[in-house]
Amino acid sequence: MNYAPKPNDMTALIEADRAHVWHHLSQHKAYETVDPQLIVEGKGMRIWDARGKEYLDATSGGVWTVNVGYGRTSIADAVRDQLVKLNYFAGAKGSEPGARFAQKLIEKMPGLTRVYYSNSGSEANEKAFKMVRQIAARHHGGRKWKILFRERDYHGTTFGALAACGQPQRNADYGPYPDGFVEVPHCLEYRSQYPDAESYGIAAADAIEAVILREGPDTVGALCLEPITAGGGVITPPAGYWQRVQEICTKYNVLLHIDEVVCGLGRTGAWFGYQQYGVTPDFVTMAKGLASGYAAISCTVTTEAIFDLFKSDAADPMNYFRDISTFGGCLAGPAAALENMRIIEEESLLENTQAMGLRLRDNLLALMERHAAIGEVRGCGLFYGAELVADRKTREPLAEAKVQAVVAKCMELGVIIGATNRSLPGLNNTLTLSPALIATEADIDRITDAIGQALTSVLG
Ligand code: PLP
Repeated sequence: MNYAPKPNDMTALIEADRAHVWHHLSQHKAYETVDPQLIVEGKGMRIWDARGKEYLDATSGGVWTVNVGYGRTSIADAVRDQLVKLNYFAGAKGSEPGARFAQKLIEKMPGLTRVYYSNSGSEANEKAFKMVRQIAARHHGGRKWKILFRERDYHGTTFGALAACGQPQRNADYGPYPDGFVEVPHCLEYRSQYPDAESYGIAAADAIEAVILREGPDTVGALCLEPITAGGGVITPPAGYWQRVQEICTKYNVLLHIDEVVCGLGRTGAWFGYQQYGVTPDFVTMAKGLASGYAAISCTVTTEAIFDLFKSDAADPMNYFRDISTFGGCLAGPAAALENMRIIEEESLLENTQAMGLRLRDNLLALMERHAAIGEVRGCGLFYGAELVADRKTREPLAEAKVQAVVAKCMELGVIIGATNRSLPGLNNTLTLSPALIATEADIDRITDAIGQALTSVLG
């Protein structure tokens, strides 16, 4: 079809989308009866769709990304200036924004020194997995090649990342996957796997040790965890968990890889989620909030000790990281990320996230008193989940259709919220909230008011 939509012809645009675009994570049958929704503009916390309807966005762009809000002209200017000066150069050369941003980022990450650029969260994680495999090959005689990941965690859509996926609906049907990725149990106390444990956090962490011992400590190279599980249900770690995880990694010489793709750059009220728990990682990966969606960029950050393991010499000329990311050399990424960080600092957005996070928590807890369907409220900073149940006593999850009806009702009321991402059979029952770090008290109240109204409308 030779289709040329006129700029203002939104109906034609919607039809073009329906005819030609394959949407992410979508069951397209729905679009036979319902229009696909096109988002055409954003400013601050607000977005507008092609029909002109305004929404308050409590998801930061659908997938916890637009940390500093929409319509930031200073980021657009920084990107434009950089693209005009030099848009791209890759391979073994460095760049001005790459060097500046790495230095700025490292200031916020004591103990870490090296930044490897790529484009997506999946890719950043793949880089860390490859580094672990190369360390195993070159320094452990091929042992320590296994990578542990956790039930309910998600690390991306590429094959290595899907091999490390704790969400069955995300990786079913796409295998076979590479060997050597081993699952450890989740740590969600509300759906406790260790009901009699005196200290659930310690028991959940000890379950990781049990997997290491089962697999053989000399085969396990790394443990990859989200600091707070995001799409798997906004699972905050139980007391004592992270400290014990760190002890276990040290004891068995297992590298700790923390996936900050969601939590990084302020989402929890600290620069990084792991900093809330006093953990010392060997790898940190980040993407979404890194440039708030103004450019595609991700980073794999590591220590000087790890970096030093990749220094080739005449005796071992193959011992350097033999990896490249073509568009990890696009300079829009670090230019946008640098300005994104400046905004977070100058507008005191970490402090705002802490304060507004407390308000969000209080509002959700108040809703919980009025609505029996809220079984548990979990989260930190501007990153919250409300798990919905059919019965508070038995904790039977609320049916997914009803959870989706609550999300749809909020949208009708002009507020966009999220829900666990159809990745866990029977457990897609958590509403997810991740407003931009610029949210005001009025924004937070409007979000929770909409949820209250939606719960009443859907569940009575
Ligand atoms: N890691 C986590 C924790 C994520 O939530 C995601 C995406 O949602 C990814 C990695 C993958 O990032 P990307 O979609 O940029 O590849």
